[in-house]
Amino acid sequence: MSYTFGTTASRGVVSKLLLAGYEAVFVGGAVRDLLLGKEASDIDIATSATPAEVKEVFVHTVDVGIQHGTVLVLFEGEPIEVTTYRTEGTYSDHRRPDEVNFVRTLEEDLRRRDFTMNAMAITLDGSLIDPYGGKKDIANRLIRAVGNAEERFREDALRMFRAIRFSAVLGFAIEQSTCHAIDLLANEIRHIAAERLKAEWDKLFLGREPLQAFQYIQETGIGLHLPAYPAALMTACMQGPFLSPLDGWAAFLIAGNLEPAELGRAYKLSNVEKAYLQSVHAAIHMREKGLYTNVDYYRFGERVLLTAESIFNCLHPLEATIEMDEIKGKIAALPIRSKKELAMTGNDLLIWSGEKGGRWVGEWLNKIEQAVILGDCLNEREEIKEWFLDEFERER
Ligand code: ATP
Ligand code: MG
Repeated sequence: MSYTFGTTASRGVVSKLLLAGYEAVFVGGAVRDLLLGKEASDIDIATSATPAEVKEVFVHTVDVGIQHGTVLVLFEGEPIEVTTYRTEGTYSDHRRPDEVNFVRTLEEDLRRRDFTMNAMAITLDGSLIDPYGGKKDIANRLIRAVGNAEERFREDALRMFRAIRFSAVLGFAIEQSTCHAIDLLANEIRHIAAERLKAEWDKLFLGREPLQAFQYIQETGIGLHLPAYPAALMTACMQGPFLSPLDGWAAFLIAGNLEPAELGRAYKLSNVEKAYLQSVHAAIHMREKGLYTNVDYYRFGERVLLTAESIFNCLHPLEATIEMDEIKGKIAALPIRSKKELAMTGNDLLIWSGEKGGRWVGEWLNKIEQAVILGDCLNEREEIKEWFLDEFERER
């Protein structure tokens, strides 16, 4: 069987390397995704050329990870990653292999890869190179380590969590001896850097079967060693599927009864991610006190409230639900969506009051914003002027 593979640009890159006398093939996740009939995300190319040789073949290149053998080639306006055939040693700092050795054969390169389904290559003319039986494992929907699973997980413990992440993404089972090796080495995951785990969690949450992954996490005991992992992720409807990684993190937060800052620290979440989790956390608190006010609809917005509501329903299955349409409707009916939509500006306050500028201007803009959201005052210039002069006078 022959496969047509790659974008025009990536085929162009492989062609040029072949013409220059090197080997070059498509590898990794994109090959797996092709056999699965899925759209490939990013196409990786492996080559026998060293990074220096790759840079000689192409005019535009960027050194993105040259010490690991990766050069980014800009070809017909597309960025394409080209990695030299390599093996890697152990990961004694659990982040990066101690050393990578460039090798001249594809076989050796494929052998260092994690799972059989990820250890295949396709040539430009479409033949599949599959020394470890990846195609068969894909047909049987199995995640199987390349070689001896125990050895491979001792080299890099992240691979255990990657197996679990792929079980969520693909809905595949983890082959028995591979799964057994996870049971055995589960506690090794404690050495893995938070950022590496976080990247896999993000993909796990987006998977079609996160529940399957949560089951593996529980069964293998790896959950005991994953930072802050809450067993309650397994229960009721905390199981996903999640609309975004952040919704997964929100379920993680609430299931674990964690503080957003605590979870943020455990997985080195970004400030944007932490702020989102803070909002969901605060929204669920408001919701537990009763229904949302217009101020809540305004400050939390649709995305946070939809997530908060679905988690609230899990926590309190007997309470009435606020339907999605109601949340959307309430937000659509708000007189303004941000302060910028007010029918006046801070400058108007100076004119209307005859006072000099100062901190009070911002404070009064906030009060006007509140009054408009609560419906105490229409968002019309004259109405706001009247409301403001009344209140301003009264507070003096
Ligand atoms: P996705 O489509 O989710 O990105 P992927 O298979 O492309 O899946 P990546 O993390 O992008 O996953 O890695 C690309 C390839 O590099 C993998 O297919 C695998 O061959 C190899 N690989 C990645 N991480 C490891 C690892 N920790 N140990 C061994 N091989 C790995
Ligand atoms: Mg990838």
